[in-house]
Amino acid sequence: MRARNLVKEYDSGEGVLRALKGIDLAVRAGEFVAVVGPSGSGKSTLLNQLGLLDTPTEGTVTVEGTAIGGLSVAERTRLRKRTVGFVFQDFFLIPTLSAVENVKVPRLLDGDRAETHRRATELLERVGLGDRVGHLPGELSGGQKQRVAVARSLINDPGLLLADEPTGNLDRDTGSQVLAEFGRITDEGVAVVAVTHDEQVTEFADRTVELVDGELT
Ligand code: ADP
Repeated sequence: MRARNLVKEYDSGEGVLRALKGIDLAVRAGEFVAVVGPSGSGKSTLLNQLGLLDTPTEGTVTVEGTAIGGLSVAERTRLRKRTVGFVFQDFFLIPTLSAVENVKVPRLLDGDRAETHRRATELLERVGLGDRVGHLPGELSGGQKQRVAVARSLINDPGLLLADEPTGNLDRDTGSQVLAEFGRITDEGVAVVAVTHDEQVTEFADRTVELVDGELT
């Protein structure tokens, strides 16, 4: 994934706010990059750009060789589904669905159902939850919930995993289990970018960049 001269401006009531001021960032397959920065520095804005959820005011994002600049919204959505997985601070699991059903959600509308089920079960085994596939989120600990979310993020075999404060709701020990999981994922060639203000994330990352007031330092 490569971002070049990424600029994002928001039109607010009091004029234009420049949230990203020309970001250059490249992340290789298998690399784990932590983006740290204080609240308001532009971390979520950056993640939305890298995750193809929003388009930049200036600059380009290229994912697996495809530059998003010329794509329609539908093409961008297709590219995102195929290439990017997301993990959030709040897990965002559906409370009425079991662990394995949650993992399958991003793939419910496409793919072979039996194959999706097999893959979802395999992913849960991989994150150490092979004995929890039928549990509801309410029956799981915070760390287990986040590991279900990690399994879900991998269901479409993305090359890039984006994580927004992935340890924000976890204690230190549980956080380190989830971060170790990211390490195993990068061993398989997936790139991981985590935005955070948790110093612990930087201990597991290959590289840490700092975002200050919309600029990488
Ligand atoms: P962080 O995730 O590091 O807390 P954000 O990316 O959320 O930072 O915000 C960066 C800056 O952009 C902040 O000043 C914020 O107020 C502003 N901002 C974020 N989203 C919007 C929006 N949709 N409209 C206007 N301003 C926004």
